[in-house]
Amino acid sequence: MRLLKRLLPIKLFLHKLRPVNKIDFRSDTVTWPTTEMRTAMAAAKIGDDVYGEDPTVNALEELAADLVGMEAGLFVASGTMGNLTGILTHASRGDQAIVGEDAHSYRSEAGGMAVLGGIVPKPVRTDLKGMMRLADIGAAISPDDPHYPRTKLILLENTYGIRNGYPLKSEYFADIRQVADRHQLSIHLDGARLFNAAIALQIDAREITRHVDSVSICLSKGLCAPIGSVLCGSFDFIYEARRNRKLLGGAMRQAGIVAAAGIIALNDMVAQLALDHDNAKFLAEKLSLIDEITIDTEMIKTNIVFFDLKDSSSVIGSSIVRRLRKEHDILLELAGPRRFRAVTHYWISRENVKKLIRGLKLILTSETNLTTLLPINS
Ligand SMILES: *Cc1c(COP(=O)(O)O)cnc(C)c1O
Repeated sequence: MRLLKRLLPIKLFLHKLRPVNKIDFRSDTVTWPTTEMRTAMAAAKIGDDVYGEDPTVNALEELAADLVGMEAGLFVASGTMGNLTGILTHASRGDQAIVGEDAHSYRSEAGGMAVLGGIVPKPVRTDLKGMMRLADIGAAISPDDPHYPRTKLILLENTYGIRNGYPLKSEYFADIRQVADRHQLSIHLDGARLFNAAIALQIDAREITRHVDSVSICLSKGLCAPIGSVLCGSFDFIYEARRNRKLLGGAMRQAGIVAAAGIIALNDMVAQLALDHDNAKFLAEKLSLIDEITIDTEMIKTNIVFFDLKDSSSVIGSSIVRRLRKEHDILLELAGPRRFRAVTHYWISRENVKKLIRGLKLILTSETNLTTLLPINS
């Protein structure tokens, strides 16, 4: 019993290092709140936020708005709700929104802008870093003609998730701002990982957000809050957005309980994103040394690492993922038949990354041996 008591603090410490019994590389959405967050949540001052009376929500909204250099913020349940609330506030039925063809707001949000807003997305090609060409944006803007939906909005994303979370420079946003101004368009930024971009580029997030009209930031990814995003913009914009959040069923009551974690996320968790980026770079470099794997290490600037099996490899992607889970307690996202995604975050240590590399090497060796043993045509 006494021994148990002595071991208990060590166990708690280990718990902090690894909150689940699996090492979870699938996404940074899997991050658990920190002990500090749990404590703050329990002690949070609360009120009815629909009456504007939750002091913790109000403090979070002010803090978020300040960090992105905007007048006001609006606490929402998710990044998807942040984007949708923003889009509904900028555009109406029959309007058109220009968006990257592989942007999260176009591909991965259940078509919300079209389903709930009657807003027509206009997907535009993006390059390997997730950038649209200015000429393509220009060509996507409808002429003033009753045939066409009216172009109202440009949707941007930073970091760009599907491109290894590539951090796009502020110059890109400045350039698009000029196009938008010429055509009186608004810009909404899906900044789910805006602070990853700012940390990777070593700039203030405001350098990016000064070029957009609204931004949605996620508290629950690398920043570890359990729930929530904040949509930020001008006072007038947020006043309207508040109505749209209500419309979507997202006006919450004693939301200070969760907002308390969000305040810690923004105050204490931003700087440590650099560690996640270091771990991702380390992972990418180690992966690039493995024969069966291809990866462009130059593309790894933040915390998302996509990598592929070489065309020449006979190994099956899904069996790698299954064996990593079963034999090594490691979760990896299968992003295609031969494509994987590993995301580093607060609960992934350097040791965990090394374990992934060791596990992958073991499995690849045994799988390769297995397939070479099989007779041809079997
Ligand atoms: C995670 C994410 C979102 C929002 O996702 P939710 O799961 O709704 O919080 C939006 N955009 C990008 C780029 C994301 O990675």
